[in-house]
Amino acid sequence: MTKPVVTRFAPSPTGYLHIGGARTALFNWLLAKHSGGKMLLRIEDTDRSRSTEEAVDALLDGLSWLGMDWDGEPISQYGRVDRHREVAEQMVKEGTAYYCYCTPEEVNEMREKARAEGRPPRYDGTWRDRDPSEAPEGIAPAIRLKAPLEGDTIVEDQVQGTVKFANENLDDLILVRSDGNPTYMLAVVVDDHDMGVTHIVRGDDHLTNAARQSLIYKALNWDVPVMAHIPLIYGPDGAKLSKRHGAIGAEAYRAMGYLPSAMRNYLARLGWAHGDDEIFSTEQMIEWFGLDAIGKSPSRFDFKKLENLNAHY
Ligand code: GLU
Repeated sequence: MTKPVVTRFAPSPTGYLHIGGARTALFNWLLAKHSGGKMLLRIEDTDRSRSTEEAVDALLDGLSWLGMDWDGEPISQYGRVDRHREVAEQMVKEGTAYYCYCTPEEVNEMREKARAEGRPPRYDGTWRDRDPSEAPEGIAPAIRLKAPLEGDTIVEDQVQGTVKFANENLDDLILVRSDGNPTYMLAVVVDDHDMGVTHIVRGDDHLTNAARQSLIYKALNWDVPVMAHIPLIYGPDGAKLSKRHGAIGAEAYRAMGYLPSAMRNYLARLGWAHGDDEIFSTEQMIEWFGLDAIGKSPSRFDFKKLENLNAHY
């Protein structure tokens, strides 16, 4: 029996719900609705200096305005740090991770040395197989993943296809920093696993992270969710989306008089297609949505098209 689909939207609450985030949320929402599954919401608030309550409210308001609901209560990633640490300690016990007592200066030096010698600037493995009884006094260790030194890590992506990453470039990732803070890489894997996420749909700026996260999944013997990395949204001229070109929050669109139904329709069309159709009701989008119809080339945001659609609604 196939598992019911569970997707998630995992924004960092550091600003408004921007166009890229709104589209990511929409694709996750459509996939969940299409499959009779769930969409969960995880607030990635571990960066305490940048995360704010106002930003969380703006995200939730933006989603609600756009007509997207989520299942259960939003989950705070920061609220789960003990669980992240527990998993990392478990990995040390199982031998898939290790305590690293190198100082940041030492790590920098080894990276520079590797670069100078034309090798990938990865951690040189000083503490990889060393006896922990040799640990220096008074230095708090970081926890690193014992990552494979050779071979490739393959990401099977529903949009990008089969993508290969050479393991020598992926490094012995830090899972928990020496100050005790889990890294984003570990937190995402543990949370997605614990939340029962079956499908990860997010921007393709996370594709290399997907390879790193796959290494963590493998070390933990956990199933890797289905992945779909969607091409980012650019401006009409193909340049990075600027404020002038639409990189503004949902609240700003609302204030300008755009209708949620037009926004949903337009956002769905940024990267997803159903024949030559342009106008979709939400019911049609839910019925027709599928990861296989997401294009590989970046989409271009065009205010004119959004305006035209808005006039139609
Ligand atoms: N919090 C990340 C972001 O806002 C997303 C992480 C993820 O989807 O895995 O870019």
